[in-house]
Amino acid sequence: MRHVIVIGVGGVGAFALRELARRGVSVLGLEAFHVGHDRGSSHGGTRVFRHAYFEHADYVPLLRRSTDVFRALSASSGRSLLEVCGTLLIGKDTCPVVAAASAAAQQHRVPVEMLSATEIVRRYPQFAIPTDHHALFEPGGGFVRPEASIRAAVDDALSHGAEMREGVRVEGIQERANEVVVRTSDGDLHAERVLVTAGAWTSRLLPDLARVLRVTRQVQGWIQPEDAALGSPAKLPTWFVVRTDAPPVYGIPVDPAIDGPPRVKVALHGRTEPMDPDAPRRPVDDADRAELMDAVNAWMPGLKGELVDAKTCIYTSTPDEHFVVDHAPGYQRVAVVAGLSGHGFKMTPALGGAAADLVLDGKSELPIAFLGADRFGS
Ligand SMILES: Cc1cc2nc3c(=O)[nH]c(=O)nc-3n(C[C@H](O)[C@H](O)[C@H](O)COP(=O)(O)OP(=O)(O)OC[C@H]3O[C@@H](n4cnc5c(N)ncnc54)[C@H](O)[C@@H]3O)c2cc1C
Repeated sequence: MRHVIVIGVGGVGAFALRELARRGVSVLGLEAFHVGHDRGSSHGGTRVFRHAYFEHADYVPLLRRSTDVFRALSASSGRSLLEVCGTLLIGKDTCPVVAAASAAAQQHRVPVEMLSATEIVRRYPQFAIPTDHHALFEPGGGFVRPEASIRAAVDDALSHGAEMREGVRVEGIQERANEVVVRTSDGDLHAERVLVTAGAWTSRLLPDLARVLRVTRQVQGWIQPEDAALGSPAKLPTWFVVRTDAPPVYGIPVDPAIDGPPRVKVALHGRTEPMDPDAPRRPVDDADRAELMDAVNAWMPGLKGELVDAKTCIYTSTPDEHFVVDHAPGYQRVAVVAGLSGHGFKMTPALGGAAADLVLDGKSELPIAFLGADRFGS
């Protein structure tokens, strides 16, 4: 019998597997598809990372821990997992999101700079910004590479003694007095503890969370700018525009030396179209493309680009858009990390650490109290 089985080796699961293996625990990771696949929430080449966090100031220590791990794993794996090119958070002068990010930065001494609309456009001519808008610029922000990070974390876990099985789907978990039985497409397995990091499929295994976790279809696209240099991290930070009349639009530069042809990745944050992660994927259509390009053209006319590629992806969101990091409701031996609500990849290393703490010690020193499952009632 293993000490711990990790169910779902995507973003969080990969870093939890690594953390548990590094602590000398006998750990097995089970993944329904293969490591680094594109059926869940962790594909598309890049994810924004930033520390001036408007969502909640308590995320900042988790972000700092994660940045340290991304750096250490980059060094040990020889892969470039993190790129620092700055982050621009744009909103009206009265925008509460920009104000919250600024307050979190001040509280945790994250270096930031407030830029006027004129200054934004002077530095980054790709943008057109109304004069009643401003931006919080964080020079230490940038982006991480999800598939490469997951691969590197799993390889590191394996080198520290973890076991990994791909193409094995967990069909159910049953807790007994001294163990948990994990029913899989490959037969029953037994562990002292279980961690569920199953992303969009979490409530299939933990139905109590179904009323809390909302699974939605998202679209990420890639624009080829007329002037290729305008889309590179040397000339463009990651950016996020808070719009008053529509969901935020954001983008990530592409480093042609690592990430493929010169492009800018763009997306809307928080589309609300529900989806079933097991149903055939509805492909990106003309309406999706128009919605995305209308937003980008309005804010970045200087890119003069065409949308040359687009893919769907999945958000699993909670009602307050904060994660769930806790013991699984109704279980003694099972922990869960889920509901990353479209902003969690940048924190997967710290969440993997917090999850390891929960399954091994029942608690964590990391600031996860605000992420408890009981905040939604029983
Ligand atoms: C378009 C888009 C843009 C985003 N942008 C950002 C961003 O800029 N910055 C940021 O920080 N975050 C961003 N996010 C959010 C972030 O990528 C996700 O929150 C994060 O990757 C989710 O990780 P996860 O481990 O919860 O899920 P996943 O990585 O999907 O992992 C879950 C894994 O569990 C496996 N699994 C499920 N059920 C079973 C089962 N029964 N048996 C075995 N295996 C199972 C799945 O196959 C999957 O591999 C974005 C997300 C999307 C979709």
